[in-house]
Amino acid sequence: LIQLYMPLNFLGIVYREIRQALTDIERMFGLLKENREIADAADAHDLPAERAMAIEFAAVDFGYEPNRQILRHVSFTIPAGHTLAVVGHSGAGKSTLSRLLYRFYDVTGGAIRINGHDLRQLTQHSLRSAIGIVPQDTVLFNDSILYNIRYGRPEASLEEVLAAARAASLHDFIESLPDKYETRVGERGLKLSGGEKQRVAIARALLKNPPILIFDEATSALDSATERAIQRELELAARGRTTLTIAHRLSTVMNADCILVISDGSIVESGTHAALLANDGEYARMWFLQQREIQDERGQAIAAVVG
Ligand code: ATP
Repeated sequence: LIQLYMPLNFLGIVYREIRQALTDIERMFGLLKENREIADAADAHDLPAERAMAIEFAAVDFGYEPNRQILRHVSFTIPAGHTLAVVGHSGAGKSTLSRLLYRFYDVTGGAIRINGHDLRQLTQHSLRSAIGIVPQDTVLFNDSILYNIRYGRPEASLEEVLAAARAASLHDFIESLPDKYETRVGERGLKLSGGEKQRVAIARALLKNPPILIFDEATSALDSATERAIQRELELAARGRTTLTIAHRLSTVMNADCILVISDGSIVESGTHAALLANDGEYARMWFLQQREIQDERGQAIAAVVG
């Protein structure tokens, strides 16, 4: 029986290895599939490398499918070094804005410009080099945590990786792992929590050191202490960069230079947190609703402890 068991066990291992490799490739193809729709224009030029980059959405229309419009005449600017946060109900079109800025898709009307350059006239390589993304759900490769952070800039030195990990409050956690920076993570290695994965993404973005940062806030609830810590690290990372934050919780956008409220693909309000509260419109309604929910949750938690 043992003679049969060994080869079968070996086959099982081989099967798992192949399955995992396929999963990684499928993920990569997922990205490639999205990119396939976009090609560099014949006369495309590189985005001139500058530290200060201003973003402009000018009357942007967009739909994933021809018969369903998702964004309608969306116009806003983010001055270089400023942070703009976008809030709105689920499905309003918030993440679509970040996909268009990274040019996974082209707008169907209007234009998006960076420092005055229409994205459609730029090489994708130069555009994407200028943008760091901290996505909702970070893809971890089945490799060491060192590899996973260095993915932000593969030629980075070890010192630079460590500095990025420190800045993202990840270093002490990594040092506590059995193999430290060589610890394997991903599906076949150590599973990281949502907050830890977001920190890996922040460290990657810091290592890339781009002038533009897109932060797509995780929808799955992080506990409030982790959320506050991530928020602080992100505000540090955003310093001096032009930042687009897609927010699912209003508590994380209070310090943004400007907040856009999107409803059904259109901007319905914009301003600072204080100005929007004073406006007493959609944002104020969402804010008080969320505050009530938070208080109710706290009340229930206290009742559970007392009861
Ligand atoms: P959430 O807060 O739930 O993340 P959101 O405001 O970010 O929502 P988007 O992800 O921008 O919303 O999606 C806007 C609309 O576009 C939704 O109705 C969604 O179903 C649709 N949509 C998103 N991605 C695609 C796609 N790849 N193909 C077709 N429709 C899509």
